[in-house]
Order: sequence, then structure tokens, then C-alpha cells
Amino acid sequence: MSLGRNRSGASGFMIVMQMQPVGSAIRNPAEKFNYDRILIRSLINDRLIGRSTDWRSDRFQGDLDRSSTRLMASRHLLTGATRALRVCMPTASLHTTTCCSWQKFENERHFEPGEDILGRTWHGLTYDWRRWRRRYYEARKDAWKKRHPVAHMKYAPMDHEMWPHRAEITIIGGGLAGSSTAYWIKQRFRDEDFKVVVIENNDNFMEGTTMLSTGAVTAQFSIDEHIEMSLFTAEFLRHTGIHLQVLDSQPPDTHFLPKSYLHLATTEEQKKMLQDNWKRQVEKGARVTILSAEQLSERYPFMDFSDVLLGSLGIENEGVIDTWQVLAAIREKNITLGVHYIKGEVEGFEFNRRPDQNVMEEDGNRWEKELPTRVIGVTVRPQMSAASPRLIRSHLIVNAAGPWAGQVAEKCGIGKGDGILAVPVPIEPRKRQVFVVFAPDVPPDMPVLFDECGLRCTQMNIGNTYLISRIPTPDEDAKIDHKDMSIDYTEFTEKIFPILVKRVPSFESAQIKSAYAGYEDFNTFDTAPIIGPHPTYTNVHMMCGFGSRSAMHSIAAARGYAEKILDGAYININLRKFDMRRIVKMQPLMETYSYLNFQQLQLKNDKKMAEDLPSGWEKRMSRTNNTPYYFNTATGRSQWERPTSSAFGKGSNLTEVRCAHILVKHSGSRNPSSWRSDHITRSKEDAINILNGYIEQIKASANPYKEFQTIAKEFSDCSSAKRGGDLGLFGRRKMQKPFEDASFALDVGEMSPIVDTDSGVHIIWRIE
Ligand SMILES: Cc1cc2nc3c(=O)[nH]c(=O)nc-3n(C[C@H](O)[C@H](O)[C@H](O)COP(=O)(O)OP(=O)(O)OC[C@H]3O[C@@H](n4cnc5c(N)ncnc54)[C@H](O)[C@@H]3O)c2cc1C
Repeated sequence: MSLGRNRSGASGFMIVMQMQPVGSAIRNPAEKFNYDRILIRSLINDRLIGRSTDWRSDRFQGDLDRSSTRLMASRHLLTGATRALRVCMPTASLHTTTCCSWQKFENERHFEPGEDILGRTWHGLTYDWRRWRRRYYEARKDAWKKRHPVAHMKYAPMDHEMWPHRAEITIIGGGLAGSSTAYWIKQRFRDEDFKVVVIENNDNFMEGTTMLSTGAVTAQFSIDEHIEMSLFTAEFLRHTGIHLQVLDSQPPDTHFLPKSYLHLATTEEQKKMLQDNWKRQVEKGARVTILSAEQLSERYPFMDFSDVLLGSLGIENEGVIDTWQVLAAIREKNITLGVHYIKGEVEGFEFNRRPDQNVMEEDGNRWEKELPTRVIGVTVRPQMSAASPRLIRSHLIVNAAGPWAGQVAEKCGIGKGDGILAVPVPIEPRKRQVFVVFAPDVPPDMPVLFDECGLRCTQMNIGNTYLISRIPTPDEDAKIDHKDMSIDYTEFTEKIFPILVKRVPSFESAQIKSAYAGYEDFNTFDTAPIIGPHPTYTNVHMMCGFGSRSAMHSIAAARGYAEKILDGAYININLRKFDMRRIVKMQPLMETYSYLNFQQLQLKNDKKMAEDLPSGWEKRMSRTNNTPYYFNTATGRSQWERPTSSAFGKGSNLTEVRCAHILVKHSGSRNPSSWRSDHITRSKEDAINILNGYIEQIKASANPYKEFQTIAKEFSDCSSAKRGGDLGLFGRRKMQKPFEDASFALDVGEMSPIVDTDSGVHIIWRIE
């Protein structure tokens, strides 16, 4: 995709500089003042977005006046001082760092192989031209403007329409993932013509995960990018007041409560995992420390560590936020940036289609089946009125529908087609319960506890209140009715409370204040997020599947994604490995931190089952009910039943065959009519008996193929009858599966037994 205006995408600053060459066009002082501001902002932007512009270089030195130089110098002094402070006081977790620390994430550009960098630059440079041309033609069609279309080319009218009919980027879902995506894109590319629309389903907004999140932010992960994302988010959250302030109104407060996270290992395997993860986290710049059971007891004397071998404790950039406050602040900021929020439900997708000439259908010569090639928009049912669904045409569609992302993808045909389209977006809404507990006797320095059994205990910033939840084991999860959102209090009394009281005895006097259930966007494949374009529909992008980590990861992921869209490559955090390709290739990205262990176990079982499959088959997971299906790598076909024989059976090496067939339709056929009869009433048994008669007749004949052709011409219920049943050459996935399987399994000159399809019953003769 090349949506960026220029390679930097830096809100047009580069374009301003091109139009106003250094030192030439600045005439009056006001102009100069503005120019300096633009220049300084572009430099700041350069540092923030990771470009390697040196502000002291000759090109810029002459243009920076003394005040701007002082400004830049003071920024650096401030950064230096903050860093020095951090070195002096290593144990404190409350330190703030300035925004320019983001530059530590500066990285090389992670372009996709084959990325058309020149094309992207050209697209950016010609953006204005295309915009003017579009405005000109729009004005010519407009009854009001058509007398002076050129005059209207110049203006960028603010779009006050209630319902957009087109958008550059349409984001499905206005939760934290969708709104952050809109924020980072619009924050860098503020052009009014660059329309970003967020569609929010008002019916389940309150069920959306963002509203119910416990808001934990930690960097204790095993995947490098997860650690980087958490660090980035923590940095951002410290400065939400700066980033999300709207004009000169009160800066928003996200109620960031700095808190250390404690992960515990009780087995040797967990201990090793914790140590490995810790090394990785420290390498990536996270401030995490490893403590023995004695050290832990010394630090937290009110907790019991008798069964603990090792613990890892975060000492900076960890805490709890109010996700609702963050979301509210981002939405408000987005609205001032020109993001258009609409209330509606995405009901479907609109495609560009091309006819598929090769498809056979029983009652047409060559049935023209329309093949979708590219998604051109989404059909949205407006929720503010009883209006019918409308199309919003879009260059790019982002699926940020949280727990419903799999269902939204299905509406686009993902997970329902053949080949890569058979691979679903494996995200399901999974019910999770959170218990709000008042524990007056628990000391306030209680860390956020991650117990290896899946228990999570997070302190809220209201009195002695804790949010406590537990991730169910896969067996328990399979038994839960995920549609029933009522609270099961036995979960707390039987499964959570005994473990919690054993670890922190002062919870003995705790009382449940309330409880709520919400959906987690659970990635059944590997629990990691899915970010980036779909391999087939390249303008449908995913930003979903964060599971219990979105509050801490979606802001950073959205920032990385904006770089990908506007700069053509990931710059600060390389998120390439999170796209759909890993799911297609069955390469899971598993987190190994303790409380997700069980998911690893589940994956190991799946792998074992995959190893036992006959050759050429792959086990894949369907989004619906987490059911496995089987993919034949030789033919590209999928099936639900576990295969019993190798995928490389007879005919698996063939790509095309030529066959003739005799079709006998019956009353249960998909279309019970043909050129021979308008209304076919015979039963399926009768149809099979008729075919059996034909088979005997053909076998008894001296020239079986001629006999086959004669019968086809006279009795076949397919329009191919006039060609003696000849269907011509056809490839894989052009016919219904039973027909294809039977055709490709035949030798040339061989006749099949009776084949049953939706069209009726057939016998097939392979010609070539
Ligand atoms: C109980 C619980 C505790 C959690 N704790 C933490 C935590 O401690 N730390 C952490 O980082 N994360 C946590 N999370 C996870 C985190 O809150 C979520 O992953 C995150 O908020 C997801 O944001 P989202 O934007 O992807 O999804 P959502 O907030 O669910 O937003 C998706 C939106 O898409 C909309 N939508 C869906 N379908 C359509 C459609 N067809 N048309 C239009 N709109 C549609 C919905 O209305 C919804 O509002 C927790 C989650 C839960 C449930």
C-alpha cells in the first residue's frame, strides 16, 4: 500500500520545506517565525519518528536562529539530566523520562522484500496533484460548484457530512486498538482530505474488552517485540498529558499507578524460563530484577514464598492504568485531529470481482462465477437511524474489532474460501471474569501478582481494592459457555481464594465488592497479536488478537503500524513477524512467561497430533469452536475429517485434467431442472439406479467411450450434453470437491464409480 504522502509522512513538513527552499523565500519576520517553527517541529518529528537528520548539519545550521538552538540544547540537557537521575536512583519506579527517550527505539527500516520505495515516493510527491484533480472532477459533478470547478480545487473543505461515503482508511472497532491506530496515523498525517473513519458498533461497545480491562502494563515477556511494545507504551503513558491534550484544555489523566509486577517460578522448568526471559528483558532495556525466595520474603514479608524457587520483579515502567480514561482521551484527541467516528455495525465487505471463466455449473455453458479480487469498501448498518446498510469505499480497511475480529474477517471471506482464504483469523471472544475485592489488611506495597497457576491480582488506585482474575486451563475453557455472561462466584471461592490466601494470608479478611465478565480477544493459534496485511486481500489489515495484553501493546503496535502505512516500513519496532503469514505457515509465536504455560502445552499436543498425520496433511485451527481442520498441501483443499491416507495419493501431482461426465439430477439437487426437464422430481435413489444402468451399458459396449458420449448427449442433465459430456480442461478448486477428487484420481480413459455432488449424481470419464 502506498498511502503516504512522502517517505517521511511527517504531516507535510517536508513538502513545506520543498516549497520554501532554505534561506530563499523567507521575506517578512512573521513568515520567518512560522518557518522556524515548522523547521523545529520537523526536526523534532525527525527525532521522534526515527529519521537520522542531524540538526547541527550545515543544511540546517544557517536557518536555526539562536532561540531555536537554545530550545534544542535545553531539550538535550533535560534528557541528559533525566537520564543521570535515573542512574543515580536505580530502584525507584516512579521516574519519568522525556519523550525524546523514544529515540532509543530508533532502528533500521524494516521494509517488506520487494517494497516499491520509488513508487511510494512518487505517490507521495504526486499526492497533491491527484487531490486537485479529484476535487476538480467532484466540483464538475456538483450542481453548485460546477460553474467554477477550478476555484474549488484549491479549498480543502471540512467534511461535515454525517455519513462518509469514502475514506482513505476505515477502521473497524473503536476500542483501544482501533482508536490508537487512528491516532497515530492522523497525528502524523493531518491533511483534512486524508480521511480516517472509525466504525464503532454501539451495541457491544460496553462489552468491548477495553472497557473491562484491568489495565496492567508490564515488560516481563519473552518475545522481544512484546517487551519493546510495553516499554514504548509505558513511555507514552507517562506523557499522555502532552500527547493527548486537546488545545489548551486540561491534560487528560490516565491514572497511571506505578506498580511492580511479580512473576513467580515454583518448578525448575519455570525457574529456567524466568531466568531466560529476564536476560532478554534486560537486554531490551527493561528494568527487571531476579530475586530468590529469601530476597522476596525480605522485600514482601506479608507474603508466603515457601514453595517459590525464583521471582522476577519489575522495577520501572510497570503499573496499572485506567484503560477507559486512556481510550476516552485518545478518542477526544482523534476527533480534534479529524478522525470521523461513526456508530454502525460492519455487516459485510464489497469486492472488485472478475469472472472466473473456468468454472462448470450444471445448467450453464460456462458458468461465470465472480471471483473477488480486492476489497473496495465495507457495508455498514447505521445505528443512529433505521437506515439500510451503506457502503463506505476505502483504500485500506483495518480490522480492529477486538474479540469479534474473527467474525469480521469471516464476513470478508477470510476463513471460508480455498487456499490461503481457508485460513481463518483465529480470534474468538472468550469470557473472562474479574472479581473486585476489598482487602483492608493487605499492605499497600503489594506488587501485581502473576502466579504460575494463571492467577492475576492487580491493585486499583482506589483504597485497598484489588482486581483479581484467573486464566482458566484449556479444559476448563472448553467447558465454559462463552455466551453466558453471568458470574460464577465459585470460581473465586473455590479456585482463586485458597491460592491467594496461601500466597498472601492477609487476604483472609477480603470481601468481594462486585464482579464482572468481559470478552478477551483470544488468539486460539498462539495467543500473540495479528498485525498487518492479509496475504490475499492486501488492503485488509489486522490489528487484533492482543488477548490480555492490548492495553499495554496496542498503543505501541498502532504506532509501528502507522510507520508501516506512512513510511512503508516498520522503523522503531519491527512487527513483521506478527502478520497472518505465521498462521498460514503454522509458525506460532508463543509467549513463555509463566501463566501462559498451559497454552504452550496445548500447542505441544497439537503439534504431536500434527506429527501423527499422514504425509502432506497439515492440521490447522478453525476460528469456530476452536475446531481443527485438515489442509491438503498437494491439492490445496481443506476438510474437517481427519485424513487417513497420504495427501500425495493418485493424481496429487496433476494440476489439470480433462473429463466428460453424465449428470443425473434428482429432486434434492441444488437446481432440480435442466435442458431436458423444467422440474425434476425423481428421487436420489432413482437417479443412482439410472446411472447404474448407464454404467452397465457402457461396460458392455465394444467402444465404451463412444457409448459414454452417446448416453451423455441424450440423457445428461448438464449443458455439456451437447459436447458428449466434455467439460474441457479444468484445474484444482474449480469443481465441487467430490467431483475434483474423483476426476483427478482417474487414469486417462478410466471411468469413475458414481460420484455424489450438490448438483446430482455423476459418472466421470477422464479424457486427458
Ligand atoms: C477481563 C479483562 C482483563 C484485561 N486485562 C488486561 C490487562 O491487564 N492489561 C492489558 O494490557 N490488557 C488487558 N486486557 C485486554 C485488553 O483490554 C484488550 O485486549 C483490549 O482492550 C482490546 O482492545 P481492542 O480495541 O482490540 O478491542 P475492543 O475494546 O473490544 O474493541 C473492539 C470494538 O470493535 C467493535 N466491533 C466489533 N465488531 C464490529 C462490527 N462488526 N462493526 C463495528 N464495530 C465492531 C466493538 O463494538 C468493540 O468496541 C484485558 C481484557 C479483559 C477482557
